[in-house]
Amino acid sequence: MKYYSTNKQAPEVDLQEAVIKGLAPDKGLYMPESIKLLPASFYENITRFSFQEIAYEVASAFFGEDLDAVNLRDIVNETLNFDAPVVRVSESIYALELFHGPTLAFKDVGARFMARLLKYFIQQKGIKQVHVLVATSGDTGSAVANGFLGVEGIHVYVLYPKGKVSAIQECQFTTLGQNITALEVDGTFDDCQSLVKSAFLDVELNDQLRLTSANSINVARFLPQAFYYFYAYAQLRKQGIEGNIVCCVPSGNFGNITAGLVARQMGLPIQRFIAANNQNDVFLHYLLTGVYHPRPAIQTLANAMDVGAPSNFDRILDLYHHDHAAVTQIISGFSCDDESIRKTIQTCDQQTGYLLDPHGACAYAALLYGLRANETGLFLETAHPAKFKDTVEEITGKPVDIPSRLQAFMAGKKQTVELSRDFQDFKKFLLEFNDIRGVKQ
Ligand SMILES: *Cc1c(COP(=O)(O)O)cnc(C)c1O
Repeated sequence: MKYYSTNKQAPEVDLQEAVIKGLAPDKGLYMPESIKLLPASFYENITRFSFQEIAYEVASAFFGEDLDAVNLRDIVNETLNFDAPVVRVSESIYALELFHGPTLAFKDVGARFMARLLKYFIQQKGIKQVHVLVATSGDTGSAVANGFLGVEGIHVYVLYPKGKVSAIQECQFTTLGQNITALEVDGTFDDCQSLVKSAFLDVELNDQLRLTSANSINVARFLPQAFYYFYAYAQLRKQGIEGNIVCCVPSGNFGNITAGLVARQMGLPIQRFIAANNQNDVFLHYLLTGVYHPRPAIQTLANAMDVGAPSNFDRILDLYHHDHAAVTQIISGFSCDDESIRKTIQTCDQQTGYLLDPHGACAYAALLYGLRANETGLFLETAHPAKFKDTVEEITGKPVDIPSRLQAFMAGKKQTVELSRDFQDFKKFLLEFNDIRGVKQ
């Protein structure tokens, strides 16, 4: 399968190149040249399949030409070694719980798949070692670090701003050891990001080390997110629900919802989508006016959605051929301020006993507001409430149970390397760490 750039100014590439490159040379995002309709027999039998079996069928449609069946099946099975249950929350609203993976957030699926696909490609090419650089303000670092943990031939460097990440987030990427190195940068998230960018542009460094990125625009992180939409549909069908399903997705960079839109183009019977935002609602503005105005992000309780310029916006435009009317026919928007997030967590807990996290709360609020009488709402619960323990406990006034796998991280020993925000320090570290001497000044 070939992948084209949404900017259409770069040549088409194969999967291997799209995965290793990440971003196209014209700064566009890669998209698969065709989105295959899955056969009717797949939908007829979907309730009999396991999560892994469903995911394999979907994965084959995209990656089946580039990978043999045995390896693809192994990658899918290793990625999805946890469940994604659909749980009934209220009369016509269900939660798709995507927090049962190792870091308790949905990014585990994409990160784990990408790590294994990258490993496969570097083995195919006979490359010994690849170095993944990732800057994080919290959640991405943990998903990527854990996704790549123990994957042979790949070393991950997580750069994070010292003192600006919550203790729970920090322990999820600083206690791992093995092939994961946490770099504690004396600076801001933007400093971390610019260190990574400078590294990709540094000729000497790139001569010595094969550097790559694992950010969310990579097709190998983006497409696997389609898997759980199919599995959720299968679970709803088992509960007797078939038609008028509305999918509501808490959105930041819009990778997750775009994967859902791709699933719909593969024939998955989702009636429509709601993109739930916090106060960073440039997408809602686009839906209402047809004008896209990125703006600086503001800080909210649902911090993984604090994005002012959603990176996957171009993929949505591309899917609907830049036709605003076509986009608004399928997707509606919603904006939830911190006050509504608090209220929603509180009333949902009181009325249904279901504990939302701040991101899921935006989506639940969107469904309460926008679900029509004959529809069933399915919202994606993208993180476990324990990841936002302090906020959630303050709102509900009740202690939040911490799952044992999160406790295990918290018990681990923090190991970091402290760095300044000066690029020369970072470069020197990378070369010395990999035992490469003779650094030119
Ligand atoms: C990353 C993240 C989101 C936003 O997902 P996008 O694919 O960027 O839209 C929502 N909720 C949580 C908990 C996240 O970590």
